[in-house]
Formats: sequence, C-alpha cells, structure tokens
Amino acid sequence: MDFYCDQVLTGLTPVRRIAEFPRVLAFHHTQPYWPVHIVIIPKRHIASLAALEPGDLAVVHEMLTLAAELCRALTAEHGGCRLSSNCGDFQTTKHLHFYLHHGPRLRDEDGKPLAEGRTGDAPNIAPDATTPESA
Ligand SMILES: [Zn+2]
Repeated sequence: MDFYCDQVLTGLTPVRRIAEFPRVLAFHHTQPYWPVHIVIIPKRHIASLAALEPGDLAVVHEMLTLAAELCRALTAEHGGCRLSSNCGDFQTTKHLHFYLHHGPRLRDEDGKPLAEGRTGDAPNIAPDATTPESA
C-alpha cells in the first residue's frame, strides 16, 4: 500500500492531528518542507486526483471543506497559504493528499535543508469544525 494507509491511518506512525472529518484527516507533516506544512488525506485509499471517480466526490468535498477552514485560519494567522497536490511522477506517496503550507521552503525533495525556519505552527481552527453534511 502506501505511507498514509500503512502508517498514518493505522496509527503506526503517530501524527499531530489538526482536524478530522468522518472521511478526512488533517495533520502536521512528520518531516515538514515548509514552516507550516499540513497534510489533508482521505481515510480510505484513493490513489490521486487523477484517479478520482464519481463516488469519491463526497470525500473530495470534505477535503476541500477542511482545506477551506484551514486556509481561513492560516490566512488570519500568517497572511496566506498555498494548497497543492501532486500527480504522476511528482507524487511520491501514491495516496491522494493535499499539502497546505505557508512560509519559505525548508528542504528540497531529497531532504536537504534550504533555509532556516520554524516548524509546527498550528492554525487556530475550532476543534469541532462542522462537516459538509451538518453545515
Ligand atoms: Zn492509501
């Protein structure tokens, strides 16, 4: 399988959770590439954006709803953020994931440091964020 299915979703690799919806989890990247580096994943396996099927739309809706809440929190706290998702040769872990990040890039793709920076800034998101169904 992949890191998110085998390690994160099973709990074998502990992560600092930020928010959770029924189908989606957001947590701090375990080896951040930016001072703020949040990962948003579906709780069931979807290979990538390119692999989405009509039955996945509810999951994607939750991912974007959670991303929107985190974007608002990061923008309020840091002035802005960026949302990205890789496919194909650019996607190292073959499980759909969004990166939500802020600040200068800290490491290159090989893990080599690029700049000094702080890590672990947590946005001030309400822990009881509403799901799309209940909103
Ligand atoms: Zn997976």
